[in-house]
Amino acid sequence: MQLTEKMYYYPWRGMGNNCNAFLYAGEKTILIDPGHVHNEYRENCLDNLLLEMEGDGFTPEKIDLIICTHGHPDHCEAAALLQDKYKIRVAMHKDEESHMKMMAAFFQQMAGSKPAQPRIDLYLQEGELELGSGEKKDTIVLYHTPGHSPGSLSIHFPEERALVTGDAVFHSSIGRTDFPGGSMATLGKSVDKLSRIEDIDWLLPGHMQMVKGEEAVRRNFMLIKRMFF
Ligand SMILES: [Zn+2]
Ligand SMILES: [Zn+2]
Repeated sequence: MQLTEKMYYYPWRGMGNNCNAFLYAGEKTILIDPGHVHNEYRENCLDNLLLEMEGDGFTPEKIDLIICTHGHPDHCEAAALLQDKYKIRVAMHKDEESHMKMMAAFFQQMAGSKPAQPRIDLYLQEGELELGSGEKKDTIVLYHTPGHSPGSLSIHFPEERALVTGDAVFHSSIGRTDFPGGSMATLGKSVDKLSRIEDIDWLLPGHMQMVKGEEAVRRNFMLIKRMFF
């Protein structure tokens, strides 16, 4: 589903757990959080995503880079498969690598099988990320927003007035902090940091529905701060 000129939204609509995916079609085509391959209900999460993307004209061959907001399997398991099958590079915050490995072992203990993990080809950190070169250059801004996990990233697309928040901020809620490496106090600082970004019309969280409209986004941050911190 196309949201803005360059931003596409693939909300998860199934029964079991999976994340929302996003695609940015600028100077480079970036897929954000491809999610699970299959989830706990054996739903075909990745097949479903690829089908929806194809409906918008995006085949895996057109993707230049995958960015995972963090390393939990419901956000990055499919990145491992796409990386192997289509040789797409995968980027993540540098602080997330050891956490991703630890959480894969943690989920193996809980669910019995170990989720696939991508190799990190490109380590990200807070700051501007330039895509393309010369006059045709896009700039996106990465924010390190730990608390749900140590290397969680949020991604600001200034031209699209969109903010992808992963599992830091949701519609009327926040990400859980009870996994290993989580911290409520740290998440509070991350939420505060994100709430200061101006001119956001599209708050695009990793789960549940988005928040649409500048005023609604402002109110959502106010509500969350009052409720949780
Ligand atoms: Zn998560
Ligand atoms: Zn998640």
